[in-house]
This record gives sequence, structure tokens and C-alpha cells, in this order.
Amino acid sequence: MKSKELESYKRILIELKRSIENALDGLNEDVITPSDSTSHYPDDPSLMAGDEFEKAKSYNIINVDQSILELVDNAIDRVENGNYGVCSGCGKEIEKGRLNSKPYAEYCVSCREKLEKEGKV
Ligand SMILES: [Zn+2]
Repeated sequence: MKSKELESYKRILIELKRSIENALDGLNEDVITPSDSTSHYPDDPSLMAGDEFEKAKSYNIINVDQSILELVDNAIDRVENGNYGVCSGCGKEIEKGRLNSKPYAEYCVSCREKLEKEGKV
């Protein structure tokens, strides 16, 4: 990959990292604050269930974002090491279209599909 292209992917990755970190900061505050507010729960159990659901949902978002954050970090490392855009499975270049939609992709489409079939990802 040309160094100009690498630079632009690096910029995208750093932007992505920043926005995930910002999102995580906001979510963490949301999750931490309601801890001692149990007495404020409404008596209606259906409302409480909704609240628990909301909480579970934001935990889920954190899990998803943290794993993406890891992938983004790894991808930034690969840019630094000069092997960004190379599939970790077969060593071929990852398709540009794939990198454009998923700049942190570690595998090319066919390796990814193979891993998914084997249940490794
Ligand atoms: Zn591959």
C-alpha cells in the first residue's frame, strides 16, 4: 500500500478511536451514576424492568465498542509496523472496499468467512 494511503487510513483509525473513547466515557458515566438510586425506582415493576433493560443494553454497547477499540488499536499498530492492510490469515492485501467500510479489518473477506464458518470469530 502507498504511504499516502496508509496515512489516510491512519487518520481514519485515529478518528475512530477518539470517537469510540468519547462514546465509552459518556456511557461509563451513565452506568456508574444510578448505583445508589434504588430507592428512586418507581413502584411499577414494568418501569423498572425497562430500566434494567436500558442498563443491559448500554453494557452491551460497551462490550461491542471495547472490542472494536482493541481492533482499531491493533490496526494503528499495523500502520506503524508497515503491515497494515495485509490479511493476518493468508498474507494477501485486504480488499480496499473492505478497508473503507471496516478500516480495522484484520482479515480479507475469504479468510474472515472461513473463520466465521469454523466459529473462530
Ligand atoms: Zn486472507
